[in-house]
Amino acid sequence: MITTVTPGIDHKMAEIIEKVRRGERLTLEDGVYLYESDDLLTIGQLANEVNLRKNGKKVYFIENMSLYFTNVCESHCAFCSFRKDQGEDGSYTLSGEEMVSYVKQHITPGVREFHIVGGHNQHVPFQYYVDSLKALNENFPEVTLKAYTAAEIEFFTRLSGLSTKEVLLELQKAGLKSLTGGGAEILSDQYRQKMKVEKANVDQYLDVHRTAHQLGMKTHTTMLYGSIESHEDRIRHMLQIRELQDETGGFMVFIPLSMQPRNKNAGIMRRNSAYEDLKTIAISRLMLDNIQHIKAYFINIGVQLTQVALTFGASDVHGTIVREQISHAAGALTPDGLTRKELIWLVKGAGRIPVERDTFYNEVEVYE
Ligand code: SF4
Repeated sequence: MITTVTPGIDHKMAEIIEKVRRGERLTLEDGVYLYESDDLLTIGQLANEVNLRKNGKKVYFIENMSLYFTNVCESHCAFCSFRKDQGEDGSYTLSGEEMVSYVKQHITPGVREFHIVGGHNQHVPFQYYVDSLKALNENFPEVTLKAYTAAEIEFFTRLSGLSTKEVLLELQKAGLKSLTGGGAEILSDQYRQKMKVEKANVDQYLDVHRTAHQLGMKTHTTMLYGSIESHEDRIRHMLQIRELQDETGGFMVFIPLSMQPRNKNAGIMRRNSAYEDLKTIAISRLMLDNIQHIKAYFINIGVQLTQVALTFGASDVHGTIVREQISHAAGALTPDGLTRKELIWLVKGAGRIPVERDTFYNEVEVYE
């Protein structure tokens, strides 16, 4: 049980602490209050208490590799620095064979997951996206395919004329095992309009995950914070995720993604403060009482802050990654991957127990 750090804690904060300890759900009003409070240490301690209850001292990571089949995209989301037009300098679309040969050159022993996302390239048919997965699955059958965002799945329905369920079934046949969490941004149609998020709307994002869960797939989910959205928008985002999780139980992890600052079109002048990053991780832990893991993503918040985040409610530090591209295109100053040894160092340095996992959070090795 925590003793709160701040003396003279106010009535509302005391009420929230009691609610959390009684296992009661926090409301929209509670969440906004926490964001407006400057009592970061109390919020962090409370999130830490909840996380210790759920996961003990274990912190999870995976040996994985990020792959990007194409950066050609029909959309022009304001915050994106990854996309290119077809034929533009630096644009590419790799065939399945080219991707297999790239992987053979860069894969390290122990990689057990490919994390695959990319642009919405309308110049190739849906079959291209199916065949690319097939090629990887045939050549690396021991590696789990965690591929495509809900926004890409929605794009594939338009490209193919198939329903969401039909698209997912086709991809499952090709080897798909889980969806990535991207494409959520902020789940508010008003935000999406202002930020020119030219892809799946709120209902479509949630519906793709709902359908995947109904097909027995476990998936990931995110929130891209730190631009024009209000604190209330962030909490409403979390509440929509919580509600779907109540319905399906299919999300394994929630990943707060700190916005990177390069793209001036999105009106982002600077990085989020460390204070805001830690608070967001802690509040995610407190609001999302039905999601087992909250991830601290070192690519977007930095290695040192990720270490601190482990005492603010985070229970996962993602993985080795091997050459992240999307956040780095948007100005991330962090390393584009870490080794297993570095991840173990990071977790142990925070006094926690590193646990190597597979995509589905089954334990592979515990590094006591
Ligand atoms: S965020 Fe995704 S959908 Fe939007 S422009 Fe970038 S690659 Fe395309």
